[in-house]
Amino acid sequence: SLVLVTGGNGFIAAHCIATLLRSEYRVRATVRSAEKGEATFKSLNEAGVKNLELLEFSVVPDPTDLQVLSPALQECQAVLHLASAFNYDAKPGEFEEKLMIPAVKGTQVICQAAEQISSIRRVVVMSSFASVYDASLGLQPGRVYSEEDWCPLTYEDGVNASAVKTWANRVQPIAYRASKVVAERAAWDYVRDHPVKYQLITLCPGMVFGKMIHPISSLSQLNASNQIVWDVLNVGQDGAIPPTKAPVWIDVEDLATASLKSLELSTNGHERFLLTQSSYDTQEIADIIRGKLPKSRAPVGSPGYRIADTHYSCDSSKAQQVLGVEFKTLEESIIPLAQQLYDMDKVV
Ligand code: NDP
Repeated sequence: SLVLVTGGNGFIAAHCIATLLRSEYRVRATVRSAEKGEATFKSLNEAGVKNLELLEFSVVPDPTDLQVLSPALQECQAVLHLASAFNYDAKPGEFEEKLMIPAVKGTQVICQAAEQISSIRRVVVMSSFASVYDASLGLQPGRVYSEEDWCPLTYEDGVNASAVKTWANRVQPIAYRASKVVAERAAWDYVRDHPVKYQLITLCPGMVFGKMIHPISSLSQLNASNQIVWDVLNVGQDGAIPPTKAPVWIDVEDLATASLKSLELSTNGHERFLLTQSSYDTQEIADIIRGKLPKSRAPVGSPGYRIADTHYSCDSSKAQQVLGVEFKTLEESIIPLAQQLYDMDKVV
């Protein structure tokens, strides 16, 4: 069958496409320009992705426009919606245009377009742990989050993130988190208010780490989650390790497998899944990389220090049981990534 993957040139989407192709699905990936489609094809090809003849691209310059987007869904049986701005670049005053509208309207329009195509049976929306936890409550040692929990941020909080009271002082992550939770709520509202013929599945992953197979030509283009790993490595051996934020994670290939299983899950209802392997902290990243790549210039910091007991954690047992996903260890996920990052930086 044919699966539409939105935001096909992104970090996670590239792995989802590779996983779908390996299982011999036909994939149509949306990108915002023909050049991005060509670059994605080249990059997947270089990464040795199989069955690329089953992949096609659809150029959708504005995925919030129903008329522009709809043709891309024709003949599809399922949609995997990943396109959303995940970066902390927008400035106060730009949050609505750069984060909230692409996320919220982009998701509403996907739900609406999918309703109009009778062949579509499944819509999987990549939400986030950002839509689950309440960052304003701080570290909350002992607290365990699950898919039952919802981040309380609203559309207005996203537009005007500077006014939101928080223990952290940067406003960009607040606007991003608001964009994710309001977008996910929009999907749930849509299926509540319309007689859709598909099941909605929302996935809420923690920080996603892993080797990149999407088009990226320099470290300045790193996606936000792998940037966390590079920020640790890049301080140098004697540098200060940056503090850990949102310390729950999942490997990108495991997330791609969970996405595939969400498309294949036999269910008559809508479902939400929290997807995190476990907690991590930035010192742990440094310790693993120093241990496995002794010639690297990973920082020393305070070896062995772990934040796990001082911080909330997550329960992903529903995803493990219902989707049957198994998780890689942090070492299995970040060593290939670290090697790739050092190669891109050309200094080991
Ligand atoms: P990337 O930044 O690598 O990819 C983002 C994708 O979304 C790109 O295809 C990009 O296209 C597209 N996009 C960005 N801005 C817009 C916009 N304004 N309108 C339309 N499309 C846009 O991100 P990831 O692969 O890391 O993230 C993919 C999804 O997973 C997102 O929904 C993100 O919120 C979610 N997620 C990611 C996590 C992570 O740790 N990486 C954790 C939890 C959730 P273009 O190149 O044209 O800008």
